[in-house]
Amino acid sequence: MAVHTVRAPRGSALTTRGWPQEAALRMLMNNLDPDVAERPQDLVVYGGTGKAARDWPSYEALVRTLTTLGPDETMLVQSGRPVGVFTTHEWAPRVLLANSNLVGDWATWPEFRRLEALGLTMYGQMTAGSWIYIGTQGILQGTYETFAAVAAKRFGGTLAGTLTLTGGCGGMGGAQPLAVTMNGGACLVIDVDAARLQRRVDTRYLDTVASSVDDAVTQAVLAKNSREALSIGVVGNAATIVPELLRRGVPIDIVTDQTSAHDPLSYVPEGIDPADAPDYAAKKPEEFTDRARASMARHVEAMVGFMDAGAEVFDYGNSIRGEAQLAGYERAFAFPGFVPAYIRPLFCEGKGPFRWAALSGDPADIAATDRAILDLFPDNESLARWIKLAGERVAFQGLPARICWLGYGERDQAGLRFNEMVADGTLQAPIVIGRDHLDCGSVASPYRETEAMRDGSDAIADWPLLNALVNTASGASWVSIHHGGGVGIGRSIHAGQVTVADGTALAGEKIARVLRNDPGMGVIRHVDAGYELAEQVAQDQGVRIPMREG
Ligand code: NAD
Repeated sequence: MAVHTVRAPRGSALTTRGWPQEAALRMLMNNLDPDVAERPQDLVVYGGTGKAARDWPSYEALVRTLTTLGPDETMLVQSGRPVGVFTTHEWAPRVLLANSNLVGDWATWPEFRRLEALGLTMYGQMTAGSWIYIGTQGILQGTYETFAAVAAKRFGGTLAGTLTLTGGCGGMGGAQPLAVTMNGGACLVIDVDAARLQRRVDTRYLDTVASSVDDAVTQAVLAKNSREALSIGVVGNAATIVPELLRRGVPIDIVTDQTSAHDPLSYVPEGIDPADAPDYAAKKPEEFTDRARASMARHVEAMVGFMDAGAEVFDYGNSIRGEAQLAGYERAFAFPGFVPAYIRPLFCEGKGPFRWAALSGDPADIAATDRAILDLFPDNESLARWIKLAGERVAFQGLPARICWLGYGERDQAGLRFNEMVADGTLQAPIVIGRDHLDCGSVASPYRETEAMRDGSDAIADWPLLNALVNTASGASWVSIHHGGGVGIGRSIHAGQVTVADGTALAGEKIARVLRNDPGMGVIRHVDAGYELAEQVAQDQGVRIPMREG
């Protein structure tokens, strides 16, 4: 089967039988655009092996089916392969997806890989297999917010005069250097693959690549001391360089990591050339896993060393602590995950990564929606700062898109405004509205979003399933249930939704429900876990909680 170069159609002419189908088609294709995907030839979008379709024949069947799908039909997708079309109704999603799900006792990487090798499943990550990846910008805003929270907690509200050390400059991790410099700080980022660092320089997420570790340290310390916002990449293995920087006593203030540690076959062990890693991992997966985990243990041990020396250290959602623990390093969980450390209060307010893409392909449509957001929320200063910086600094990848964190009661307002702008011709074509699965009420992930919940309910996975059901019942355009994204097989269950603003009255009714009920899941989930802030939001916004009534 031929490998394609895929690019979504642009403009206001339909190539399918309706805008919801057209949106799904364009966003599937956009996920595989060479400007967006990390390895489009393998259908891999981001996050190690996160794919948009199982194989090329499945991709072609998806495109064929979306092109002919009626407005009262629903296509079912099982781990990247279309498996059926049923007659439903206009309010039903046009696509329902389930990716990478396995029954509990079988939910291990070796079993997943066995089934994947048989062609029976694929790894969907979060927005890869649910067709709403928008490139590195998607994570940039969340990363920007996280570093802003670090600045607020430890450094007087700015990262100016601080040095952040991190690893991994891939699809998600590549957002880190820009997020740090947007907060005024200096950043040193290690990646084993020089091409990944160069790609981030080309897209303006990274300022420069150093010629050696010595050069990197000199530049980084100079930037810190002169309070310059500068990001520096250095080629090497994080398991070697992080301990070396600790030994040298480099004055590092913040340490985190976004190497692809969630999958021990994606983390390159010390002593292995990244070019040889895929072949080695495929031929000897167990040996590779042992070596990768041993390297991760050394990497995490050095992160703990930085913590002991007074740095702010956190796990950035890649499960590196879990892998280091499996290698026998006992203090792996000495530092916290980023959600309990910085993000949970936002989740209590139903806040999370609201994102949208312009199907016209014209950046002018995103500029118009940016103005609409500023107009809708004039008192939100950090939102205004983000929208302004994003407009200046973010290079679009694929279809122009934007992300900002909005809460309960805000997302539906924004969605309805976009729908009006499509209806009155301010925008040239419909807008696709979705979100990351890393949201307030859509994930069960004990190493990440639900780490250290107040009532101990970290591993309860009913919530994301209810989230998918309520979005289906509310009129979302496509809804997905995934397993393993972000943190790896066996460690998370999560759900996604995407809703299309095509300017019709029906779309308006769907948007009003979906974009209220979806973040509403975050509010009720955190009320149930005993967070007072969530209780307050529920009370102020009239979210009904049966156990608090009567
Ligand atoms: P990716 O596969 O695109 O990039 C990973 C990078 O790590 C690559 O550039 C690779 O060369 C590098 N790398 C691998 N081993 C290394 C080593 N030993 N030393 C130095 N560099 C090494 O993955 P991504 O999309 O950037 O995601 C990174 C991680 O973050 C994944 O584990 C993913 O699951 C997780 N993630 C976190 C969040 C979050 O919100 N915090 C969201 C999504 C994904």
